[in-house]
Amino acid sequence: MKNAPFSRVETERDVTAFSGFKTPARTAFFFDVRSKDDLPVLSEAVASANASELPVAYLGDGTNCLFAFDRFPGLLVKNSIPGFRRLEENRFEAGSAEKVHSVALVLATGGNAALLPWIGLPGTFGGAVVGNAGCFGLETADVFETADVWNVFDGRLETLSKPDMAFGYRKSTLKNRTDRFVVSARFDLSLRAPGNPYESMGIAEFRELRRAKQPAGRTCGSFFKNPEGASAGALIDRAGLKGWKIGGAEVSTLHANFFLAAQGADWRDLIALRDLIKSRVSEEFGIELSEEARIITENG
Ligand SMILES: Cc1cc2nc3c(=O)[nH]c(=O)nc-3n(C[C@H](O)[C@H](O)[C@H](O)COP(=O)(O)OP(=O)(O)OC[C@H]3O[C@@H](n4cnc5c(N)ncnc54)[C@H](O)[C@@H]3O)c2cc1C
Repeated sequence: MKNAPFSRVETERDVTAFSGFKTPARTAFFFDVRSKDDLPVLSEAVASANASELPVAYLGDGTNCLFAFDRFPGLLVKNSIPGFRRLEENRFEAGSAEKVHSVALVLATGGNAALLPWIGLPGTFGGAVVGNAGCFGLETADVFETADVWNVFDGRLETLSKPDMAFGYRKSTLKNRTDRFVVSARFDLSLRAPGNPYESMGIAEFRELRRAKQPAGRTCGSFFKNPEGASAGALIDRAGLKGWKIGGAEVSTLHANFFLAAQGADWRDLIALRDLIKSRVSEEFGIELSEEARIITENG
């Protein structure tokens, strides 16, 4: 990997823009997967990184990621595979880099409110499938049909069904793996449970509701998973840490499970805030919080 033998693999690139917190970050090698034609190169680049024992990590829009490094010593792969195709009234196929929010907005504007609860949900369909993203009563698994994934080591496309995905709370079988890269996915909106109350809201009204519940800015959304039967945000609040600041990192005063990074904040501030919250919640309530956010370190 030393000389990045692939013409499309960039070297020593600034990747500050590609994480939710936008902390200053660089990577030794960077590959932007723009279409299916790039997938064989992806396989070669990953094989080369592996042969050099360099870490590899995949990114959609990075909205659920914290970069815990100044310089990633390996290969960061950004997904930019576009495409949206309506298959039937309630079925569509999305390229994995299509934005969930944009598709939800287009459908709702056209009179189909099935994805209205996802208006304002940041990120790509690839990220949503991998992490079973969801909110306001609708999870990715609820409408998921199949996904085409690139088997990076065998160099071929595979189609995964819902049972293959083993979806759970903010997880799927594809989470934190580099042997599979999500290329596209199909969704059937008629699979969702009926009666989601948010679907009957107007678009503007729903956006207002979302704005009132979640802070905007440099964040990666909910930082911790909700423990069984509890709310991570409520625990952080009860531990007295709402609004707590370490350097440029802050616990949101609006939603205590959201961290916010000030302009130029250092990733170390965010990690220190995470560590403080974990230990305080553990001490006070005997509950060990685990991260929903993906923390990418120098090791991947
Ligand atoms: C303001 C804000 C609000 C949010 N609210 C919510 C919410 O209500 N509900 C919710 O579920 N999430 C929420 N999130 C988190 C985020 O929107 C979701 O996790 C989203 O699905 C991440 O998509 P992404 O494209 O940014 O993925 P990334 O953050 O880039 O990646 C997420 C994970 O998926 C992997 N990945 C991404 N693309 C691929 C691919 N093509 N192939 C293989 N692996 C891949 C990455 O390696 C990483 O492990 C919020 C985030 C923000 C900033």
